[in-house]
Amino acid sequence: MTIGIWVLGDQLSLNQAALHDLVAKLGVAEAQRRSRVLLIESSGVLHQRAYHLQKLVLVWSAMRHFAAELGEAGWHVDYREASGFADALQPWLVEHSITELHVMEPAERPFRMAISRLLDPSDNHQARDRPLPPRLIWHASTAFLWSRDDFATWARPYRQLRLELFYREGRRRFGVLMGPGGEPLGGQWNFDHDNRKSPPRGLSGPDPLWCEPDAVTVAVLAKVEGIQNGRRSAGLPPLPGSLERFGWAVTRQSALAVVEQFIATRLDGFGPYQDAMVSAQPTLWHALLSPYLNLGLLHPLELIRRLEQAGLERGTPLPSLEGVIRQILGWREYTNGLYWLFGPDYTERNHFGAVAPLPAWLEQLGGSGMACMDTVLGEIRATGYAHHIQRLMVLANYGLLAGLDPQALTGWFHRQFIDGYDWVMQTNVIGMGLFADGGLLASKPYAASGAYINRMSTYCKGCRFNVKARHGPDACPFNSLYWDFLARHQAQLGRNPRMGLMMKQLAKLDAAELDAIRATAADHRQLAVQA
Ligand SMILES: Cc1cc2nc3c(=O)[nH]c(=O)nc-3n(C[C@H](O)[C@H](O)[C@H](O)COP(=O)(O)OP(=O)(O)OC[C@H]3O[C@@H](n4cnc5c(N)ncnc54)[C@H](O)[C@@H]3O)c2cc1C
Ligand code: SF4
Repeated sequence: MTIGIWVLGDQLSLNQAALHDLVAKLGVAEAQRRSRVLLIESSGVLHQRAYHLQKLVLVWSAMRHFAAELGEAGWHVDYREASGFADALQPWLVEHSITELHVMEPAERPFRMAISRLLDPSDNHQARDRPLPPRLIWHASTAFLWSRDDFATWARPYRQLRLELFYREGRRRFGVLMGPGGEPLGGQWNFDHDNRKSPPRGLSGPDPLWCEPDAVTVAVLAKVEGIQNGRRSAGLPPLPGSLERFGWAVTRQSALAVVEQFIATRLDGFGPYQDAMVSAQPTLWHALLSPYLNLGLLHPLELIRRLEQAGLERGTPLPSLEGVIRQILGWREYTNGLYWLFGPDYTERNHFGAVAPLPAWLEQLGGSGMACMDTVLGEIRATGYAHHIQRLMVLANYGLLAGLDPQALTGWFHRQFIDGYDWVMQTNVIGMGLFADGGLLASKPYAASGAYINRMSTYCKGCRFNVKARHGPDACPFNSLYWDFLARHQAQLGRNPRMGLMMKQLAKLDAAELDAIRATAADHRQLAVQA
């Protein structure tokens, strides 16, 4: 009997559950002697989704490096490049007479279903031809701090779930930034009010650590360039993004170096300008660690512990240290927990009945004419990255105000972002960004006019639109769309007590001005569709 272990592309850790459980059961030597480990680099993923070029390079290069690391650790590894998962899996099962296939639970619901289908003889042609399908053994995911069951147990008593309660429970449960007597360190759980400073003139953050591509990455870059050229020759739309400069870390070792560089240069300053957006400063004090956490190169608990230890040793201001830990121990775990709690129908939510198609400039990553939007899109084109406030208050805010179809916009985010995965997209885009779930995640829509972007960014100074104007050809589109959004959904929004102030401001607008604003918004939407 040969035991098969299929390691998925976002499970790149020697401690991932399928490997770990087998070692725990048989011991290292026996586990390695009796098993073979499979990794599949499938270009078939592009039939479902046209990913950003840098995302493909990151994932495939990280997989190739991890396969080598497994081999060096003594595992028998089979690395397959294939045009589809089934094309690689089925011959491998036969070749090695695999009778048991061990897989760690995927982080994404659709992928779990796809794996089950691949091995179901009644559903899959190639599986049917096999004499004996292997027994599929799932291993509970260890990629997050909270298991799916633990999260569901935590959530059960609440009628309304809120991040703050979950986050405090996480701090207590994992003993992070706690003082004596179960009190939070510094006497406060939350320093958000200290972390919302507008950017002063000339604000610039420390440079992040970018890594030089090694020979493995260079080979993947060539493969991805080949795919791009092939698509062009076949008349297919090109994959988004640019490969001009690829600098993401592709090994655990280099991801750890990124962590240390973040601690040395940006941890202390993480807090104050967390919500700021500055032209030509795409990263500021952000950590740039989501791609590595999401691939399994880093585990969230080891990262939290390292940040806590380093921050306390360095005397990092608590608002900065608590600020970054809140993101990982709070938001990251919360959005993942909710993804599994809400179930598969969550993805179809559309509270405001938004149906507008995506403007072409989103797909083209530029050309909207709005300085804020084009800056963020240009940064995404270069690296597949934008920081949280750019995602929330420029991209998703626009989608919310303009009434873009939530499913189409979620798909767009998934294609464009270096760290995009189903589990993190759904709750962040459908829930936090678009309020398409009607308030399961956020207590009110994150809707904001140009005034917010002007206060928190440097973009408006270089924009052809006037951020103070609400209507007319020069008016900032975020302004006209904002008032139009409030007016369009007055009945629904009026029932939300947290929208009271905004709805009062809407009521104060005189009818002629509101008509002019709404006509400007309609013109913008019309142009955006044609663009
Ligand atoms: C509309 C929208 C789309 C998003 N899409 C993604 C996505 O595809 N993949 C992704 O990992 N995150 C996503 N996020 C969450 C967040 O914006 C990114 O995790 C963060 O910007 C990554 O950059 P960073 O590592 O520099 O983060 P930092 O700002 O330095 O934060 C540190 C870490 O906290 C975690 N984190 C912070 N906020 C969140 C959050 N809301 N949800 C989950 N993790 C969080 C990330 O792991 C991040 O690395 C999205 C947020 C919004 C509003
Ligand atoms: S004026 Fe409006 S469109 Fe232009 S950068 Fe500012 S917020 Fe964006």
